[in-house]
Parts: sequence; structure tokens; C-alpha cells
Amino acid sequence: MAEAGFRRKHPGGPRALMMRAVHSRRNSCRACAGEQLVPFLDLGRQPLANAFLATPDDFAGEAFYPLEVCFCETCSLVQLLDVIDPEVLFRDYIYVTGTSETMGRHNAAYARTVKRPAQSRAKRSSGRGGQQRR
Ligand SMILES: [Zn+2]
Repeated sequence: MAEAGFRRKHPGGPRALMMRAVHSRRNSCRACAGEQLVPFLDLGRQPLANAFLATPDDFAGEAFYPLEVCFCETCSLVQLLDVIDPEVLFRDYIYVTGTSETMGRHNAAYARTVKRPAQSRAKRSSGRGGQQRR
């Protein structure tokens, strides 16, 4: 039943959900507090990430929230301004990157590929020519 799915996602039911602000929207940058924020990708209203539903009935009560990507003209941080109450967002959050060996290997390989060009640029700009530094 849809009600069961809704209750699983929102203990206390619709009344408790209405009493709490599950969603809010920032009007300043998360990093620099600047207010020159430019939306550039509006994905509409989306269900919560990783909130996998158990039964087809759960879909009827699934909550959707705005998902819009913004750019801060002050510090260049790309970010989401829509904030979901962490208690709701992470209630059924199954995927945690720290527990995935595959993700760990990918991140280590990616760090090596990013590090090599950065080291090369640093050597060139330091004027050491062919000297190697470890
Ligand atoms: Zn900023």
C-alpha cells in the first residue's frame, strides 16, 4: 500500500512532515557566502538519491524535490542550493563511497592521473629543468 511506503519514508505521517521543513533553499554560496549565484542546470523535481523503494506501492508516496545546479560567480563553486533535511536525505542512504572497493580503486587511479600533470607543471615552473624531486 502507498501509505506504508510513505510512512517508511516519513515516520509520523504527513502531519509530522508538514510540521518540519524538509526542504529549504539557500540564497548564498556554501563556500564564500556570496550571493551572485547563477542557475545553469534545472533538473526539475527529483526523488531523493539512493532512496530505493521496496515495493511498487512505495512510488505513490515518493517525495520529489527541486534539483537545480548553480554557479557562484564569486568563488566559482558549482553547487546545489536546495537543501534537504539530512535526517530525511540519509535515512535510507544505501550507497556510501567509503565502503566501495571499486570506488576506492577508481579514486586512487584518478588521483594518480591528476597528480602527474600537476607535478610536471610544478617542475617546469620551478625552473629546475631536468632535475627530479621526490
Ligand atoms: Zn562562492
